[in-house]
Amino acid sequence: MNRRDFIKNTALGVGAVTLFGSRAFNVHAGEILPKKGKRVVVAGGGFGGATAAKYLKMMDPKLDVILIEERASFISCPVSNLVLVGLKEMKDITFSYSTLAKKYGISVLNAKILAIDPVSHKVETSKGSVAFDRLILSPGVDFIYDNIKGMDARSQELFPHAVKAGPQTIQLTQELKAMKPGENMVMSIPEAPFRCPPGPYERACLVANYLKNNKKGSKIIVLDANQDVVSKAKLFKAAWKDYYEGIVEYHPDSEVKEIKAETRTVVASSGEYVGAILNIIPEQKAGSMAFMGGLMPQGRRWSPVSALSFESSVHKDVHIIGDATDGDVIGSMPKSGFVASTMGKAAAASVMAMLAGKEPVSPYLANTCYSMVNEREAIYVTGVFEYDPQTKKIAGKKAAGGVSPERSVLLGHQAEDWAKGIWSDTLG
Ligand SMILES: Cc1cc2nc3c(=O)[nH]c(=O)nc-3n(C[C@H](O)[C@H](O)[C@H](O)COP(=O)(O)OP(=O)(O)OC[C@H]3O[C@@H](n4cnc5c(N)ncnc54)[C@H](O)[C@@H]3O)c2cc1C
Repeated sequence: MNRRDFIKNTALGVGAVTLFGSRAFNVHAGEILPKKGKRVVVAGGGFGGATAAKYLKMMDPKLDVILIEERASFISCPVSNLVLVGLKEMKDITFSYSTLAKKYGISVLNAKILAIDPVSHKVETSKGSVAFDRLILSPGVDFIYDNIKGMDARSQELFPHAVKAGPQTIQLTQELKAMKPGENMVMSIPEAPFRCPPGPYERACLVANYLKNNKKGSKIIVLDANQDVVSKAKLFKAAWKDYYEGIVEYHPDSEVKEIKAETRTVVASSGEYVGAILNIIPEQKAGSMAFMGGLMPQGRRWSPVSALSFESSVHKDVHIIGDATDGDVIGSMPKSGFVASTMGKAAAASVMAMLAGKEPVSPYLANTCYSMVNEREAIYVTGVFEYDPQTKKIAGKKAAGGVSPERSVLLGHQAEDWAKGIWSDTLG
């Protein structure tokens, strides 16, 4: 960080509202929040991190827990596809961190993490450095643009992925509203693994439903780099056939090679497609925090961790959870908010045990992911995952899990209840 950045950051820091009581952070000192007892720092206040911080405090209210998050509010990706088509608003998916601070006594530090030193047990933030005994990182995902020709900084701004709910969700919502009847939207899906396997297909349904009702003659062209729909395939395809014939145009095995911004053309392995809106979802990798402090081995894009304790395979005392984890190392699970949240609970239990010099706690994880296929009906996929001491991986339990037999209005109501439930479990 250069001097100008430092002054800018610290100036922002002075003005920013912190949730750490009335005590102001000493932004000019190197170290802030000097450590007194045992401390766990949680980096990233998304589904994984916020849940981990809350459950640590629930297990031991005296433990010093600091949650560091760069955004002032929590913005949920689940339900963000409904915002795109005007069925929900940004305020419906935006939440405060204040309950975590007030009810559980978590010190919520609204700052950007700039560096991690796993050896001296410190994280460097835009407001100063913070020491820890153990660190839980839940960095989310970042995006790989290098393998799409023409996807430079300007194209990245013009053609949003909207896979991190926030400004790009608003941008895509506005673009859909402004689209003229008869114009098309092109959405690309990268090769798996990516955040929320059913997410893009749910988006295809909801956008198609919106076009059907509002933009006569328009369609959504889906370019999927995978050989087939990667989640709930039969159910999504049935919805496209029954409701959106001629509105969803699905192209499997269609990897995006190039974007021609001037003509809004996507060059894919299956042909060239033009859209008034280009929603380019690139390949993904672990969020930038996972690459700090030498935590990511050379050439890897997901974090290798122990499937038992989520402790980094590279550095002890640092645990990594959520979308950033490497499914090849710990066992394949969907990169979902639900999985991140159950990983947060499991990691919190292991961190508590390890701070007390005990063995980590064997994780038991779960996933349920609802997708809306129109404004009323939903489908779901669910799974339960358990640590297997023989393979040292987490494996899905065959007897538990599967997909909904069909779409229904009842499942639509359950989808809404599920979202309220996980928001409350994470932040309430
Ligand atoms: C359209 C869409 C729909 C979805 N629907 C569902 C669903 O229905 N059900 C479901 O279970 N999942 C769903 N998901 C997936 C879910 O959102 C993710 O799997 C989940 O957010 C992963 O949690 P995480 O903690 O790993 O990452 P995140 O929730 O992304 O948390 C990472 C946090 O770290 C913060 N951060 C990053 N870098 C820094 C830094 N340097 N300093 C400080 N803070 C930093 C970020 O601001 C962020 O808050 C959906 C995703 C999308 C895109």
